[in-house]
Amino acid sequence: MKAILYEAFSAPPKLVNLPDPVPEPHGVVIEVMATGVCRSDWHGWVGHDSDIVLPHVPGHELAGRIAAVGREVTRWKVGERVTVPFVGGCGHCPECHAGHQQVCDNQFQPGFTHWGSFAEYVSIHRADLNLVALPETIDFATAASLGCRFVTSFRAVIDQGRVSAGQWLAVHGCGGVGLSAIMIAVAAGAQVVAVDIADDKLKLARELGAVATINARDVADVAGAVREITGGGAHVSLDALGAVTTCVNSINCLRKRGRHIQVGLMAGTESFPPVPMGRVISHELEILGSHGMQAHRYGAMLAMIEAGRLKPELLVGRTISLEDSIAALMGMDRFEGVGVTVVTEF
Ligand SMILES: [Zn+2]
Ligand SMILES: [Zn+2]
Repeated sequence: MKAILYEAFSAPPKLVNLPDPVPEPHGVVIEVMATGVCRSDWHGWVGHDSDIVLPHVPGHELAGRIAAVGREVTRWKVGERVTVPFVGGCGHCPECHAGHQQVCDNQFQPGFTHWGSFAEYVSIHRADLNLVALPETIDFATAASLGCRFVTSFRAVIDQGRVSAGQWLAVHGCGGVGLSAIMIAVAAGAQVVAVDIADDKLKLARELGAVATINARDVADVAGAVREITGGGAHVSLDALGAVTTCVNSINCLRKRGRHIQVGLMAGTESFPPVPMGRVISHELEILGSHGMQAHRYGAMLAMIEAGRLKPELLVGRTISLEDSIAALMGMDRFEGVGVTVVTEF
């Protein structure tokens, strides 16, 4: 199969030929029809992820058709259209038994713990637990764009943030995660304030239903501006970027008893933000994380997509070839372009 492989961290990946994978007894091999390019792939490539063993094939936001099925798999057959969450569960740890496969003790993460989907084929473990059937109405590129940023945002806004109609949600950073969160929160009836430093991203945020936007380049006190717009602070706020500034702004823009959800990955120099714990105490704030979403929660999200209440296809930006994914991956730290870049040509 054709695949993108890197042999050293931060060294340019190469388009190579590798043996086709064979399924584990409990797994499947998926013919990849679309795979998203994500900043997490960039973090992995530069060496921020200790799970990665070299040489490595990146890619974790995928959709495709089942090409081969392991002998222990009972729920799936060759040819079915599927996608997967970027964290797969093992099925036998306490977290999996409690239904929290997104924080499984023995996680299967294509593109991190195992070779990923920047390839014609990818092997997925524990298929009966981890695969999600894809409705015919959702195309592969859109489905691939769901697997990481969109599902993480869905869990952040709906399950962790517990946003309800009429509440204020602040979104700090309007890349793939932030724009997804805006769409989901608006569908849930929330009022959204979007913060970014790029006017084109804020324009898209407004088109997706944000009622107010703040360009952080033009405003000295972003948290104060959010508190003013929302009449006292957001009920829920997301750091959708993963940086010291956006994390601290997100916590400081909350009203009393508000919830901060950390969604953007904190890595490298941004790993240890100075969290204002005094404010967390005096305002009784909640600080939560969101790490993907379980396969069994996809049903609620897919139903909203099929009903037309969520339109993730609006967030798909460029579609590119497997070869072009090398440049796209290496450039992911520059935050260029709007929406999710998806590989659709293999
Ligand atoms: Zn588990
Ligand atoms: Zn991702």
